[in-house]
Amino acid sequence: MLKQEPFKPENYYILAVDDISTNLKLLRLILEPIGYNITFAKSGHQAIEKVKVSKQDLILLDLMMPEMNGLEVCKQLKSDPEYANIPIIFITASNEQEHIVKAFELGAVDYINKPFKRAELFARIRNHLLLKHTIDKLKSTQIELKNALAEVQKIANTDPLTKVLNRRCLFNFGYQEFNRVSKYGKALSILLMDLDNFKKINDNYGHQVGDQALCTVVKSIKNTIRNVDFFGRYGGEEFMTILPETNVEKAFILAEQIRKMVSSNIIKTDKGSILLTISIGVSTYSAKDQSLDDIISRADKAVYQAKQQGRNKSCII
Ligand code: GH3
Ligand code: MG
Ligand code: MG
Repeated sequence: MLKQEPFKPENYYILAVDDISTNLKLLRLILEPIGYNITFAKSGHQAIEKVKVSKQDLILLDLMMPEMNGLEVCKQLKSDPEYANIPIIFITASNEQEHIVKAFELGAVDYINKPFKRAELFARIRNHLLLKHTIDKLKSTQIELKNALAEVQKIANTDPLTKVLNRRCLFNFGYQEFNRVSKYGKALSILLMDLDNFKKINDNYGHQVGDQALCTVVKSIKNTIRNVDFFGRYGGEEFMTILPETNVEKAFILAEQIRKMVSSNIIKTDKGSILLTISIGVSTYSAKDQSLDDIISRADKAVYQAKQQGRNKSCII
């Protein structure tokens, strides 16, 4: 619910446009004592200049003016997205009624007949300012909600420690890619990576240093893979990369690049430098696969094989 704040005229800026000075003086006499901030323009051109250099919440616009009449001013302002939502109230003489329809067509919100009736002038100005204020507030609430939703979505998809995709999001992309490849028959490969003897890092240096090391390794792996690949935390010290349109040979080359990079990077932590290695299982889509889980299960077996063969290895199954 939007909270209704008390209406304060001193918060609003009104531009009054009329080629006849006495009309402007009259508007000043009526509106200034209430507290509105009023500026004046004596022609259409001047009005447009004033709108461009100063914030206006509402325009009182004389319909008949020499050179550029009120309708033209209205048309110009409404065609510019920056000024299009400033409410325009036309000031009209009783013999100008036939122009009123045109004014509404061009985007005016209201009109007031000359000679002004104070109470009517106050009421119409106040109503349109309140309406504009409410619309502006709704728009900003909408933007805030959109931003909040994007933030929530980001959090829902991100691993809190390493800031890469979490398992849920990784699987969503994986299912999407599996559907694509099973429909159109292009390549899809997966790398499953498991850090070697990571438990020892925690045992020797503490969990906090273990966390630091994980974050550093993740950053360097992320920098090694392409932007089109999906990389995320599969669980604990295990990570997965989904490689769309990548055959097994290319996937193995990437696995080896990652493996060599991890083993040659010295990780600096609060408690000294650490060297890590990683075991990588590579698997690729085959027409026999019923689901993404079939490909992952082969990658998992390949990781196991890499561990069996002494770790710091990439294996394909
Ligand atoms: P292996 O080479 O066989 O994979 O040995 P390993 O020690 O890496 O494997 P194991 O599965 O025995 O242990 C995984 C370790 O990773 C144990 C766990 O505490 C640690 N680990 C998992 N997630 C985190 C984490 O978020 N932070 C830290 N610091 N450690 C983690
Ligand atoms: Mg593990
Ligand atoms: Mg491990």
